[in-house]
Amino acid sequence: MIAQVQPLTRTRAVRGTFDYRLSDAQAPSVRVGSVLRIRFGGQRTLGVVTGLSEITDVDPGKLSEPDEVLESALTPELVGLAEWMAHEYCSTSARALSLMLAPGAAQGAGAKRVLVAELTGAGRDALATEPVADASPAPRLTARQRELLATLDRTGPAAASELGTDSLRRLAARGLVALDRRTRPRRPPAHAVGAASATAPPLTVAQQTALDRLLEAIRSRTGADANGDGADEYEFLLHGVTGSGKTEVYLGAVAAVLNAGRTAIVLVPEIAMTPQTLWRFQARFGDVVAVLHSALTQGQRRDEWFRLRSGEARVCVGPRSAVLAPLDDIGLIVVDEEHEGSYKHEGDPRFDARAVARWRANAHGATLVLGSATPRPESVHELTRLRLPERVDGRPMPPVELLDMRSSHQPLHPETRMALADLRHAGGKAIMLLNRRGWSNFLSCRNCGRVWLCPNCEVALVLHRHGAFVACHHCGHRERVPDRCPDCASVSVARHGAGTERIEHELRDGLGTDAFPIFRLDADASTLQARARTLQAFEAAAAGVLVGTQMVAKGHDFPGVSLGVVIDADQTLRFPDFRSEERTFALVTQLAGRTGRGAEAAGAGDRVRSRVLVQTLAPDARSLRFAAGHDADGFVADELGRRRALRYPPFASLIRVVCSAEAEPEAGDAAARIHERIVVDGAAVLGPAPLFRLRGRFRSQVLVKATDREPAIEAVGRAVDAVAPAAAKRGVSVSVDVDPV
Ligand code: ADP
Ligand code: ZN
Ligand code: ZN
Repeated sequence: MIAQVQPLTRTRAVRGTFDYRLSDAQAPSVRVGSVLRIRFGGQRTLGVVTGLSEITDVDPGKLSEPDEVLESALTPELVGLAEWMAHEYCSTSARALSLMLAPGAAQGAGAKRVLVAELTGAGRDALATEPVADASPAPRLTARQRELLATLDRTGPAAASELGTDSLRRLAARGLVALDRRTRPRRPPAHAVGAASATAPPLTVAQQTALDRLLEAIRSRTGADANGDGADEYEFLLHGVTGSGKTEVYLGAVAAVLNAGRTAIVLVPEIAMTPQTLWRFQARFGDVVAVLHSALTQGQRRDEWFRLRSGEARVCVGPRSAVLAPLDDIGLIVVDEEHEGSYKHEGDPRFDARAVARWRANAHGATLVLGSATPRPESVHELTRLRLPERVDGRPMPPVELLDMRSSHQPLHPETRMALADLRHAGGKAIMLLNRRGWSNFLSCRNCGRVWLCPNCEVALVLHRHGAFVACHHCGHRERVPDRCPDCASVSVARHGAGTERIEHELRDGLGTDAFPIFRLDADASTLQARARTLQAFEAAAAGVLVGTQMVAKGHDFPGVSLGVVIDADQTLRFPDFRSEERTFALVTQLAGRTGRGAEAAGAGDRVRSRVLVQTLAPDARSLRFAAGHDADGFVADELGRRRALRYPPFASLIRVVCSAEAEPEAGDAAARIHERIVVDGAAVLGPAPLFRLRGRFRSQVLVKATDREPAIEAVGRAVDAVAPAAAKRGVSVSVDVDPV
């Protein structure tokens, strides 16, 4: 038997599969998806079987035999998915397959075997008869031995090391206990966060209506019904305001899929940010839920992977990589908070978990649900939308007020200072969001609010740290930093870059920290645990301000927050990106959704009404106006119109190619050569544009804007394949990002 094997090498130069001869002992256990330990190009590596055959073009005598067949086989569907990902993201199958392997497979990580003790029938009898009388024929037990047997009787099989191996061995010698080595999955500890119940509450009418649509799709795509007239609608967008009970709808759909004997994947942006969601699934479905994320030990991840692969676990909850979970017969894929940028993988292939979810849903006959309070315009455009328009608790959204900062030279608007003083007086909680995304220095006019935009791309020009230039990160357009504003002639042109420390200082100054604690959530500086502690402390506190960047508006659910403040809301607007409007709208809307919830907010609301204050230099920005009006539909319609006009997704596809090297000319040359090779109708090829140095490397970018996606992907793939190998020899690495976020 011949196996066609894809060797898992990093290099782009290796394309296609290689034949290996399977021994008679190996052949029966090898399928498409099997993982082999092979020799390839003089090295030991892993390979994945992509096909089996009786014949080969190569002299069979010259073929080598795999060293070993690993137990961590992928499914044929995952092999097909890897091929699709390789093409779709201009990468290679080997790189895609590497992301799918069982954690630790390459290092040969195995299952952990432990000595397990179990009560025997004789042991149970001994426990029941003792201590009737001294004369009893039953063997005598010490108090400690009785206790051990009783424990085993209560718990069932247990790890010997946890109870005392020596004592158990003595009981085993008397036939009262059976000891044997078994594999025992290393389970990640479950963290109970917030209230979660094992049963569903009665659903609201809106929840039930949405769930019914999903159940109908699930039913018609399962079993006998799936043949013929399966539902033509199976890709849904669950658009529900924060607190509208979306998770309860997901839970209902997962329950239906499990009842039908199928499996489900539930994606969340980041486990550390959404421990409540994970816990709600665990509380509802128990051990059938597996979790895959990077904070687990490799052993835990490996064992969870095998629980999924074997069918012992049938629901996988996790961040973007969980979309590659080795499940069979997937009936449902949920993507919660679908607008989050973290669904885009940063490595190679730069896959988008939402697109992979769609591919897999299609391959499995699964139902797809993307959920958000602030969905991406493309999701509204492409999916069937189900609405949850109100919060479950019926509480209205807090008013959102825009505060014009153009004439202010203080970081806090007077209105903000007053609101904080009121809050302090009444004793409530506030969330204050410093809107910064990485470093983003830009220019604006202090007088009229003009922001310097790229004439080609309609995104903000970014200030070069050392130069006297502003530049566009999309197309490379550059211009000098002006002396005065061309619109109003003011010479007061401000270079921005928000000062976190200054804000904190202002707060401490104005509020007095002893009576009114300030909790600072720092994305860059602190560990996950430190962040979790800060969040817990804020949750437990009776009053205080939580200050931080974007993450304070994500995922968490704090009852009793009556004030939300966004400092410098238009910061995201100036980030050089076609999604800036969308991000700004989402940010303000998400913060509003987390303000004024829960019983305590109701209590505080008698004295302090819930509100959201948005400080901005651009009070007329469309995204802010729509957010202030709680008008998601208006925003999406407007944004889709703009994108259609400017040829941005979903009306065109973007492909970004970045070349990086230690020397500037090398990066630029490679980008120029790729640029000239991308010849495709109906596509604009922009660049090469220099980017900022990253980790000491110069970077240059080519951006393709294509109305016709497929030919553009192919053209870029060909250009990169033609240029990358030679460029690699000169130290240039090339990365391709299809649908950058
Ligand atoms: P979302 O995911 O839309 O933000 P959640 O699913 O987290 O909303 O629901 C918000 C809160 O309302 C949660 O505490 C949840 O337990 C509760 N909840 C959801 N649905 C119901 C319901 N039908 N009846 C009572 N409480 C509900
Ligand atoms: Zn001006
Ligand atoms: Zn531009």
